[in-house]
Amino acid sequence: MKMILLDVDDTLYPKGAGPFNLVTGKIDEYVMSWCGIGIKETRALRNRYIDIYGSTLGGLMRHHGVDPDHYLDKVHDVPVEELLCADERLREIISGFEQDMVVFSNGSTGYVRRVLGSLGVLDLLGDLFTIEFMDYVPKPRTYPYRKLLELYGVSPRDCVLVDDRLPNILTARDMGMKAVLVGSEASVPGVTAVPDIYSVAEITF
Ligand SMILES: [Mg+2]
Repeated sequence: MKMILLDVDDTLYPKGAGPFNLVTGKIDEYVMSWCGIGIKETRALRNRYIDIYGSTLGGLMRHHGVDPDHYLDKVHDVPVEELLCADERLREIISGFEQDMVVFSNGSTGYVRRVLGSLGVLDLLGDLFTIEFMDYVPKPRTYPYRKLLELYGVSPRDCVLVDDRLPNILTARDMGMKAVLVGSEASVPGVTAVPDIYSVAEITF
């Protein structure tokens, strides 16, 4: 195994303990304010855009003239530093990986840097493949996976994805990658499930 692709939100910190839930609320606020609609319509619109384009942003860019950088700034305006703190154990585990590591997150570069900085691991993870590099097409669509593999010149067989979301993991598995689902006990063929990120250190890739 040559390369570890590492998700950030709800993977590197316990599910629900960090800023990611707040980002979802900010997306609702953004859609309500930009489109001038209520919460119920917002939820319906978001679900439709996620179905069609893979993300709320994809639909907003196509149908509402939204500038992706404006959107990403607004929805990631959450108190990351208040919610997360340096995690020495996480640092040890990431330091122990011998493979190349690429952060593979649907967040923006600025936001992901803040999360990694708060967890005290930013200096260990130099390569950030975030939503801007995915041309705003997020996981679990195959597009960003293919773009990443092409950019780094690696085969799916040489990669493992570590992520907390099953749809993201299934795309990786179906493309031929090794797949590690974090924060789950689910029994899924071709997927290794672990209770938390610390347990990933016990897996032999
Ligand atoms: Mg995640």
